[in-house]
Amino acid sequence: MYKEAGFAPVVTHCVSCGNRQDLKAFSIANGGMLCRNCLHIDENKIAIPEKVAKLMALFAG
Ligand SMILES: [Zn+2]
Repeated sequence: MYKEAGFAPVVTHCVSCGNRQDLKAFSIANGGMLCRNCLHIDENKIAIPEKVAKLMALFAG
């Protein structure tokens, strides 16, 4: 559904390094999730609980 809206945030892996584990926050500026190692690249990131992150990835399928 994201793609049909013309905006496809990266939710299945870290938008910075591609890591699929330890996704901790969403970065609007970078358009996707950030893993634990990349949290520092966006100080305006939105913390996402791990269960929610997995749910988002599931829906993005
Ligand atoms: Zn990362």
